[in-house]
Amino acid sequence: MSQPHVPVFFRPEQVAARAEVQTSPSAAKPKAVVESWKRLGVPLAVHTFEPVTREVLATAHDRAYVDAVLDLEEDNGFYNRSAAVAASLPYTTGSFLAATLHVLRHGGAAASPTSGFHHACHDSGGGFCTFNGLAVAALRALAEGCRKLAILDCDAHFGDGTHDILSRTGHLERDVLHYTRGSPHYRGGNEQAASFLAHLPQLLSQWKDEGVELVLYQAGADPHVDDPVGCRFLTTAQLHERDRAVFQSCARLGLPVAWNLAGGYQESGGRWPASIRKVLNVHDNTLRACAEAFVR
Ligand SMILES: [Zn+2]
Repeated sequence: MSQPHVPVFFRPEQVAARAEVQTSPSAAKPKAVVESWKRLGVPLAVHTFEPVTREVLATAHDRAYVDAVLDLEEDNGFYNRSAAVAASLPYTTGSFLAATLHVLRHGGAAASPTSGFHHACHDSGGGFCTFNGLAVAALRALAEGCRKLAILDCDAHFGDGTHDILSRTGHLERDVLHYTRGSPHYRGGNEQAASFLAHLPQLLSQWKDEGVELVLYQAGADPHVDDPVGCRFLTTAQLHERDRAVFQSCARLGLPVAWNLAGGYQESGGRWPASIRKVLNVHDNTLRACAEAFVR
């Protein structure tokens, strides 16, 4: 499968002002990431998309929770009731859903510069996650005729929200496979890093053999060795190697892959967005690895 560029599903509306999300840069990050990506010389095409409706969010979440958050009657995953954050949320999930539907229909790889999904449970948010775009996209892919898919969550933290939603809806390990932190491969140390990186192509081959037709890849930046809230596991070069292993395996196996960003909390000093340059470097490498594997 070759493609002329990497489609990137981005709209300015998916960005909440940084002042609204002081505790985490994740909601303000998409714009900085896309600006950084555009300077890399990697062929990409920015695509627009529609925000998701409350009905779509309620395929994965309790409808009362969806309404309460969007009507500012309950805290979002940033533990506040900011109208700006609430307004951005249908675009955040919409971006990832659009990337997923794009690769489901056309194959190949597509990017969503989004974070803040995997701690969002069926009826609650937290850990900077309000609505679970991974789960929404997985459930929609099944509804669109995909028979089996896999979520490859390579953030440093356990995807408790994704696990909760997939369990409650009866899809976990039936038609949605879920890899998240908690694997014996995902621990600190050089030997474990080598083992983890060698495991990824094996895992993707195994998924292909088991009938997986689509991969949703969360390329978290917080497994970095210097990340203050991550698992202090991989260097920048090793994270790049992780991304290469994932994308080259997907390309080789003919597995469509939609991907997003997730955590990354290293500070570089200076003013925004220079203050997250180290995190942007990790996300830059993910785009490079995607283009190396898919763009011809
Ligand atoms: Zn994380």
